[in-house]
Amino acid sequence: MNMADQNTTQHSLKKDKYVSTRGGNSHFLDLFCSKCNQYFALYQKDGHGRLLRMYLDRIFAPQELALLQSKVSSKSEMPNLKCPKCGALIGTPMVYEAERRLAFRLIHGSFVKRKSDGVYPPQQTQNIHNPKRGGNDEKRN
Ligand SMILES: [Zn+2]
Repeated sequence: MNMADQNTTQHSLKKDKYVSTRGGNSHFLDLFCSKCNQYFALYQKDGHGRLLRMYLDRIFAPQELALLQSKVSSKSEMPNLKCPKCGALIGTPMVYEAERRLAFRLIHGSFVKRKSDGVYPPQQTQNIHNPKRGGNDEKRN
C-alpha cells in the first residue's frame, strides 16, 4: 500500500450528553456498502448494541455527509443515504424523537462495519473480504 503521503485526518471522539446517556463506550466505525464494499462513512458509535441508525452529529466523514448536521434542520431536507459507488440504498431519513436528533435509519444488511481508529480516509491495509452475494456467509467468529 502506498498511502503514506495521503492527507489524513485523525478525528477525536465526541464526548457529550448523548455519550453519557449511552454509558460511554464510544468508538469509531468505518462503514462499507455490503454490495460493493465501497467505503461510505466514518462514524462514531456510542454505547453497546447494534448499529440501527446513524445520527447526523456522529458522522465525521466524508465531508458531504458530515456537513449535513449543520445544513439540514428537518428530515424532509435530508437525502437518502446511498452507496456513492453502486447507489444501493443504505439509510432513510428519520428523527430520533427521544432526543430530537436527525438520523439515517439503516437498512438491515446494507452495510458492513469495521472498527476504526478515527483516521480518514481509512488506512486499510488488508483487503475487505467481499461477501458472496445471495448467500448467507457472514462470519462472526
Ligand atoms: Zn455499493
